[in-house]
Amino acid sequence: MARIRTIKPEFWTDEKIVQLPFATRLLFIGMWNFADDEGYLEEAPDRLRLQILPNDDIEIEEHIDLLCAAGMIERVSLTDGRSILSLPNFSRHQKISHVTKTKFPVSSGKKRVIPFETRRGVAIKYGCKPGERKEVECYFCGAKGSIWWPLTSKGKPSGWVAFGNIELDHFIPENSGGNENKENIVLSCRYCNRSRGYKDPIQFICKSFPENSGDLPPEGKGRELNGRERILPDLDKSKSVSPAGAEDAPSAEIINIESRKQKSAEREASDMELLDEVTDLWNSWARQHHAPAVERLTKQRASKCRHRIEDLKKYGYSTTADAFNFLLSKCNCSFFARGDPRKPLEFDQLMQEGFMTRMLEGAFEYRKENRKF
Ligand SMILES: [Zn+2]
Repeated sequence: MARIRTIKPEFWTDEKIVQLPFATRLLFIGMWNFADDEGYLEEAPDRLRLQILPNDDIEIEEHIDLLCAAGMIERVSLTDGRSILSLPNFSRHQKISHVTKTKFPVSSGKKRVIPFETRRGVAIKYGCKPGERKEVECYFCGAKGSIWWPLTSKGKPSGWVAFGNIELDHFIPENSGGNENKENIVLSCRYCNRSRGYKDPIQFICKSFPENSGDLPPEGKGRELNGRERILPDLDKSKSVSPAGAEDAPSAEIINIESRKQKSAEREASDMELLDEVTDLWNSWARQHHAPAVERLTKQRASKCRHRIEDLKKYGYSTTADAFNFLLSKCNCSFFARGDPRKPLEFDQLMQEGFMTRMLEGAFEYRKENRKF
């Protein structure tokens, strides 16, 4: 229930308040009206927009997050999955005669604070400069969000960076030793952040973007390949029964069968060549980046690889090698494919359909303009 609240004269000259944009200050005052008597309110950006700034075209999530960045409000995750906002020292500033107890189970809640150094570090990592608003994507699903680094009214870079519709997510989960360094922080949408929980990021990507191989036969049901065999039985057989040099001309039917056999053998040979080419390219990339090389082309691996070669054709490169080199160049721009901060990428991971597509789309890159590698 909305309440009448009071504004103290000191508010207007508060050291932090004077550095915030007007809309953020106004939103902050408005929150007092809609917070309960203990200073808690649900984090419901759309509702807050309607309640406080209904006629303004502003990115409300960014302004809420800016207040969090400045420490004016705090985010609290409740055990039931809801997120609430808390106004610290609310009861000290507001004179409330009959305090109604909060309905939120705050005692079991967990405060979520992102240090301002981390915020700035992540903004820099993603190429957002002071005074800019940068559109960013969820690392996992590509959902859009933003980073906002406002200027103060005097035109100086604000000390606080805000995030809209996107959350800072530990790439290596905290319980697996992941730290708060900007290298370990990726941006993810609320949905992916919540549904990933403490799962391994690569496993999460592979599960979230399942295989879909279109018209091709199901994966894993390809031609049997034990190791990297280069001798193809079909090809040998067709050679041994080759009519070349024979005095009697073979019948048209036999020629037909033979030419069909020959053609299929050629197809097989070129298929093997492609697989070899791709794994050779991978192995030389892997050597440079201390990633595991492909030693054996198992049946399943060959089948996956064959499917991905088909997928790569859609990118319009004239040769498979060019297309695969393009894929590897994308891996070069991905900090985690290169083993930072995690162990390097493996061939089988790269050959997962959803994963390869995301890699090609550049989803795992950051700060393209300032790439060091
Ligand atoms: Zn997402």
